[in-house]
Amino acid sequence: MNKLRTKLALILMTVVGCSVLAAGLFMALMMERSHLRTLQDSMKREINIILSALDGGAEPFARKDAAYFAEKARIFGTSNGERVTFIAADGTVLGDSDTDAAAMENHLGRKEIREAEAAGIGFARRHSETTGMDFLYAAVPVEEGGSVVGYVRLSISLDEIDQAIVRMWSVLLSGLLIVFVLAGLFSYRAAYRLTRPIEKITQVARQISNMNYKSRVYLSNRDEIGQLGEAVNAMAASLQNQMHRIMENENRLFGVLDNMSSGVIMIGGDGQIALVNRSAEEILISSADAMVGKRFDSPAAKLPYELVRLLERSIEKGERIRDEMVVHVPEECVLEVHIAPMRSEDEWLGLVAVLHDITGIRRLEKMRSDFVANVSHELKTPVAAVKGYAETLLAGAMNDEETARSFLNTIYEESERLNRLIGDILELSKIESKRAPLFFSPVDLSELIGKTLEMLGSEAAKKRIALSMHVEEHLFIEADEDRLRQILLNLLSNGINYTPEGGNVTVSAEAVEGEGDEPEKIRIIVSDTGIGIPKKDLPRIFERFYRVDKARSRSSGGTGLGLSIVKHLVELHNGSIRVESELDLGSRFIIELPLLQS
Ligand code: ADP
Repeated sequence: MNKLRTKLALILMTVVGCSVLAAGLFMALMMERSHLRTLQDSMKREINIILSALDGGAEPFARKDAAYFAEKARIFGTSNGERVTFIAADGTVLGDSDTDAAAMENHLGRKEIREAEAAGIGFARRHSETTGMDFLYAAVPVEEGGSVVGYVRLSISLDEIDQAIVRMWSVLLSGLLIVFVLAGLFSYRAAYRLTRPIEKITQVARQISNMNYKSRVYLSNRDEIGQLGEAVNAMAASLQNQMHRIMENENRLFGVLDNMSSGVIMIGGDGQIALVNRSAEEILISSADAMVGKRFDSPAAKLPYELVRLLERSIEKGERIRDEMVVHVPEECVLEVHIAPMRSEDEWLGLVAVLHDITGIRRLEKMRSDFVANVSHELKTPVAAVKGYAETLLAGAMNDEETARSFLNTIYEESERLNRLIGDILELSKIESKRAPLFFSPVDLSELIGKTLEMLGSEAAKKRIALSMHVEEHLFIEADEDRLRQILLNLLSNGINYTPEGGNVTVSAEAVEGEGDEPEKIRIIVSDTGIGIPKKDLPRIFERFYRVDKARSRSSGGTGLGLSIVKHLVELHNGSIRVESELDLGSRFIIELPLLQS
């Protein structure tokens, strides 16, 4: 962690440390050198003073007056605390302030003497074995008449100077240490200031890569790092914008896909189901979660076998396929399937299958063709009868008046039947196609039922069937009066037709509370004490042309369409109809209609 910061701090500390160390070393050397120079200057001055203070001049040198120089050496040596040595031109030591001159070896070979002879003054620095200390020597030649007669040598212990230099070094090193620590602190601070914005930018970049496009860099820097932060912010804003646009497009796409009535299944290039829209879920009765991500041909995807075969065919041939198939999911369902392979240049991207549930359409088509067959069949019998009787009449039967009358009567009855049949077919088709709009108005039920019963009075009387009603007065309902009358007429006619002589047919109507949030309803019950309907036929009696007993229906003049018309009319009133029946005991048709139409 913070590697860059540590690296930077170390680099800065090294640079500062080296610079300070180099400066310190340079300073120390300079100081030592200037110290020596000052010392040399002062030694030179002191030798000159000694020379000028020698009362005998150069002459004692020429004489090699050891006693004289021993005395002088003692005086000068003790007066300024330095060692003074007088040396003859041949190197013989004539006097020395510290040591007995006679015991000292020849000094001509000494560096300072050789330098003094050559350059007029000589310096040397040496370690003295005698004292175990470093000494600085300075020698000046004494001349007489142009030739060197001797030398005056001054030596001084460098011990003090060395100590001073050591002191200076320790002060310098402590100073350096303090400077180094300060430099370290400063370097760390500088590295922190430099790397902190970079860390912030890195953090934001990481958040952006984790799809947090709202993340921004907040920096006060106006330098290159500040500009980098601004660039990152601009990049995040642009990404946010683009992502927003992508999401918007995606939402639109999913909105369209999910609200399509067609089922859409997309299979990726790897054969895995990539997308399943809501309609496809409904058609296949399976959830998208259970299908997406699975291979389309794996049992886990649970796609109908026929569809899998078709998809495989499309992949094999690489071409569009349109087909119709019957699948069981688990109920029988007719599907129209369009499969289109997706490619981009030479790359295989998968395929899209669009499913249409055409079960309803196919059922309707079947119903239509069945209806046409049924109608033709229903029409055939009366037409054949009319034709047969007319032919017989023409063949001569019309000459016999009684036979002719009977035949004509039958022809009339059959044509009546035909008329009723055609009337009912037209009525049903009108109701089904919703060509005849309903006109809702408040209807007084007791009045309507009373009048309807009156209309059927004579028919009921023929069979001695008692008609009765139980309806409270002024019970109103919002309905289409004519259609409601037709419903009652059809049900009451059936009641009279399918009730043996002496029976009862009753109509009752009452208001009932709707269940839950449902509005108030009116329940109308038409019941009879007739022959009843077998249990097995109950579910089918509202189908067109369905009759329990064909012969009986025909003889009663029924068309097989009455209940079908009733059911449609009830549904147009947003109501429901059901039947309860006991064989040989009677039937109850229960209609529930909303009190008010919305
Ligand atoms: P139909 O014109 O033959 O009466 P409907 O559609 O009115 O045709 O009735 C269908 C069939 O339902 C009838 O053929 C009859 O078998 C049966 N059905 C209808 N109403 C009754 C009833 N009240 N009692 C017994 N059977 C009935």
